[in-house]
Amino acid sequence: MDVSEEPINIEFIREASEILKNGGLVAFPTETVYGLGGDATDKEASRKIYQAKGRPSDNPLIVHIAKFEQLEQITTDLPETAKKLADAFWPGPLTMVCNKNEVIPYETTGGLDTVAVRMPNNPVALALIEESGCMIAAPSANTSGRPSPTKASHVYEDLSGKIEAILDGGPVDIGLESTIVDLTEDIVTILRPGYINMDMLKEVVGEVRMDPGIVYNDKGTTSGAKPKAPGMRYKHYAPKGDLTIVSGEENKVVSTINKLTADKRAEGKKVGIIATSATAGRYEQGEVLIIGDREDEQSIAHNLYDILRQFDELDVDIIYSESFATPKIGQAIMNRLLKAAGQKTIEV
Ligand code: AMP
Ligand code: MG
Repeated sequence: MDVSEEPINIEFIREASEILKNGGLVAFPTETVYGLGGDATDKEASRKIYQAKGRPSDNPLIVHIAKFEQLEQITTDLPETAKKLADAFWPGPLTMVCNKNEVIPYETTGGLDTVAVRMPNNPVALALIEESGCMIAAPSANTSGRPSPTKASHVYEDLSGKIEAILDGGPVDIGLESTIVDLTEDIVTILRPGYINMDMLKEVVGEVRMDPGIVYNDKGTTSGAKPKAPGMRYKHYAPKGDLTIVSGEENKVVSTINKLTADKRAEGKKVGIIATSATAGRYEQGEVLIIGDREDEQSIAHNLYDILRQFDELDVDIIYSESFATPKIGQAIMNRLLKAAGQKTIEV
């Protein structure tokens, strides 16, 4: 159902709302990625979400709301920081993990006593929550193990025939999943990096730490601790082609990738390269895709998952990517890219 034009077609929102109220599933756009939604208070709906995605049932879903009071309705011992963070960043790409009460079933939280909650900044998503009267449990609307969907066509590729409807709101804005913070301990802890970064959070709540379980070097997590967000423990998307990140000074990166590409092609391999608009013309061989512009870090976040899907379609054997440790969202971008690469990096 096409809801990409303003004013949003309210008939489609009503139809999607009826599906949700009857326990069905609807994929819908948010500003981060497309979500696969069901009524968060309905355990059967949550079971269906896991089934449609092929997602492990211990990996909890994020509950999407349209009013701050809904957060109060489903949590206990809500800390003051929740209100402060909501005032600063909601609606927006920040998910808060809080202690749950009995309103949200364990099926939605993967058996945990906490619930992850977010108010998305997308008119279609907010209209759907309001019209249906549901709080909407929604993980990313991809098959488990594939890149998160940033266009309705990605959702269609993965879930067509498995869900009742897709609301097509056009390509999403940000293109990376939300920042997740844990508010159940004394210090606000980032469980998954995203567009809202550490500095932005510190300005609002003072001290913020990073979950030691998600700080990696090339040998794995630096602390040996398990990530607290169950989803960060799973092997995430790995493209069909073997991805390696090449980082360092730009000229050296380009010449190294050119050399590696020539070697692999001589072995008969098909090679893909993730380049920027500034460097693309300097790659001599291989399938070169432009992820964006280094000066516009949002463009890189926006195109990352789409590029990974495109390389699968091109059926490349090997992928080399430049590194994108850009100032604001670089940590979130590199978190996803390093996972896709199984942490494989060459420093030049
Ligand atoms: P997705 O919506 O596909 O990005 O997945 C939701 C993410 O939120 C996964 O990484 C989950 O593990 C994480 N998450 C959801 N609920 C909780 C929770 N109660 N505690 C910690 N992490 C959570
Ligand atoms: Mg996901």
